[in-house]
Amino acid sequence: MRYLEHGDVVRIDPQRSHVNALYRRSSPSNSLLVTERCDNYCLMCSQPPRADDDRWIVDELRQVIPLLSPETAEIGITGGEPALLGQQLVELVELLKRHVPRTTVHILSNGRRFASPDLARDIGRVRHGDLMIGIPLYSDVPEDHDYVVQARGAFSETVRGVLNLKRYGIRVEIRVVLHAQTYARLPELARFLTRNLLFVDHVALMGLELMGFAKTNLEELWVDPLDYQQQLAEAVAILSHAGMVVSIYNHQLCVLRPELHGFARKSISDWKNTYFEECTGCAKRSACGGFFASSTLRRSRGIAPVGEGDRQTDGMPRAATEVAPDPPAVSGGA
Ligand code: SF4
Repeated sequence: MRYLEHGDVVRIDPQRSHVNALYRRSSPSNSLLVTERCDNYCLMCSQPPRADDDRWIVDELRQVIPLLSPETAEIGITGGEPALLGQQLVELVELLKRHVPRTTVHILSNGRRFASPDLARDIGRVRHGDLMIGIPLYSDVPEDHDYVVQARGAFSETVRGVLNLKRYGIRVEIRVVLHAQTYARLPELARFLTRNLLFVDHVALMGLELMGFAKTNLEELWVDPLDYQQQLAEAVAILSHAGMVVSIYNHQLCVLRPELHGFARKSISDWKNTYFEECTGCAKRSACGGFFASSTLRRSRGIAPVGEGDRQTDGMPRAATEVAPDPPAVSGGA
């Protein structure tokens, strides 16, 4: 418990002699897990859902939220599927607005529950000043998306959910996790977004975290990011030329094509972020987001330190100022 500091919030379980840190004041990556239940069963879920009755979590969060520092830059809300809480999710957003009004709130949701407009309307009525909901969409082909999330009809509900959230003034981010089942049609998905969901606020194209089901289904999911650079570059070009704000999360700069460097963000939460031996002495070390700690399972064959000659005088990768539109601060990193 040496890493605990003044202002942190912990749960103490005397019977099991456990102490869990629920909030670390100095961390930029605090997330509140609000339920472990989910109505998707995604092939690569990093936190596989559990069906247990966990309504006690919301009771606990009613006590935790008033203890958060008002200086907290960002809080994530995650699950499971937070929208399964229904009105209790609305209540949590209200509590965050009341107790930490200057804190960015980023909710990770599969979007399906917002297909019925009531929940989107009620969250919109809270009028939180800095709220975004991150929603995954894995393909422009409904059956492909449904296969990845293992839920028939999910594509239609998710898209209707996005439309309802925007209708009620809530900012939406589309998240695409790149793996062997999703990368091939990435340009087509990008075109779908520009034609149908041009008004979403951010698109995050994300590397795979090898945790949970991603580990179990590794052979079905793994593709070396070097092998989807063409699709990634095409998708980024389509999205950014249409005026959409696009970011690349969870990728190492030495693996990305130079023209993509300006879109890459340091997105991995501090507590699971690491760098490997190759990174020592790499000229892009300070600009590069590094790896998930779980990346020891599989790594790209493109990982290699970059020499000084590949860096601009301002320390940014060459393409950073040439191609990226105004990037948002990383919200709801992985
Ligand atoms: S070698 Fe350099 S660019 Fe590659 S992952 Fe390490 S720090 Fe990033």
